Amino acid sequence: MANKILQRSAAGQKISLQNGIRNVPDHPILPFIEGDGIGRDIWQAAVGVFDAAVEKAYGGRRKVAWLEVYAGEKAFSQFGTWLPAETISAFRQFSVGIKGPLATPTGGGFRSLNVALREALDLYVCQRPVRYFAGAPSPVSRPEQVNMVIFRENTEDLYNGIEFELGSAGSQQFKALFKDHFPAEYAKIRFPDTAGIGLKLVSKEGTCRLVRAAIQWALDNRRKNLTLVHKGNIMKYTEGAFQKWGYELAEAEFGDRVYTRAQWERTRAGCGESAANAEQEAALQSGRLLIKDLIADTVFQQTITQPQEFDVLATMNLNGDYLSDALAAQVGGMGLAPGGNWNAESGQAVFEAAHGTAPRYAGKDLANPSALILSGEMMFRYLGWFEAADLIFNGVAGAIAAQTVTCDLHRMLKDSTPLSCSEFGRAVIRQIKLS
Ligand code: NAD
Repeated sequence: MANKILQRSAAGQKISLQNGIRNVPDHPILPFIEGDGIGRDIWQAAVGVFDAAVEKAYGGRRKVAWLEVYAGEKAFSQFGTWLPAETISAFRQFSVGIKGPLATPTGGGFRSLNVALREALDLYVCQRPVRYFAGAPSPVSRPEQVNMVIFRENTEDLYNGIEFELGSAGSQQFKALFKDHFPAEYAKIRFPDTAGIGLKLVSKEGTCRLVRAAIQWALDNRRKNLTLVHKGNIMKYTEGAFQKWGYELAEAEFGDRVYTRAQWERTRAGCGESAANAEQEAALQSGRLLIKDLIADTVFQQTITQPQEFDVLATMNLNGDYLSDALAAQVGGMGLAPGGNWNAESGQAVFEAAHGTAPRYAGKDLANPSALILSGEMMFRYLGWFEAADLIFNGVAGAIAAQTVTCDLHRMLKDSTPLSCSEFGRAVIRQIKLS
């Protein structure tokens, strides 16, 4: 397969990376995975939009050389393996790419291909914007106030897959060791004889690199505040440590470009609350980024009741997974939820929708391709092709504003015109051509 990749990629050039700085040629080779379930339908719709936007923005001077690589069911049926090594090496070699959803059966023995790919490329940032498009359905009364970006840590927490199944030899050995060495902790297990075990690992490096990327992005994009989301009241040395290390990093590395709630607490302890409030007010007036923290359950509540108070949210892996789907529901659901996975040091990136394979729409040309299209918008922005990115964004916004939507949105918008997946792609292209 490696030779085939090289043959098929001859029409373009590689993006080169040096210390995370990208040099993007006019004809970059971008690998893509079509994906399982609705993957083929949404990819076909999205790639037409990408090509139309690039053509309109650069009039033929720039063009993407798309390179198909394989994972999931298509890889298994053609090569007998779910995630060929060549696929990982193509993403590594060409630096930036995009993928459709890949299925992961629940339960025994099957590791998520999505997680495996993120781990192999060390894509530790999962960036998920949550924005409202005028005309989209929403269960909240002021959806136009929703404009948040989640930075979810992508490589640790409970997602490392270090688990011991009940009854397995590993489980028995682990429990015996644990009982021997930590009898007091072992005694806390409510039902030791019937408990499955999973390990939650949160490192200082893992936390710091995610929080660093989130703060840098917030500053670069002139956002006003960043919330560290955690459940440190219960899990002190993992979630609590995420909060502590996050604040320490903000103050040590970003100095007077940020103002932290930890600083506010210190000033309040020394000089009283009104002095702390005055200090914070002066810091924010001078354009500093406010870094605050909030317990995860409160975040779920307040992002619904006061969405205007939230700009950027830095989260651990599991909290971010839940939160990004919950917030997507405020602005039209999973069909409109894009994402990008990247590594700020290496510059490697793979963009993908937040949703999965939506089995009930698979192969029916009914799914909403917007989330993948908007993931492409993020990808072009990442590459510095801002004109193409703006056209894509405005094209989706225009199609939704015209109330020409796929069935997931049509169900909630009774006066809208229902379109198939491919028709929606063409509607976005029409908007791009008209702009
Ligand atoms: P899902 O995201 O596929 O579906 C959740 C709900 O959203 C369903 O009601 C579905 O119909 C709807 N939906 C999702 N995408 C849509 C779209 N583009 N247009 C219209 N409606 C859409 O989640 P699931 O059902 O829990 O998972 C299905 C499979 O996808 C599982 O195997 C799961 O592991 C996998 N998955 C993959 C990824 C990924 O590739 N990054 C992410 C999540 C889930």
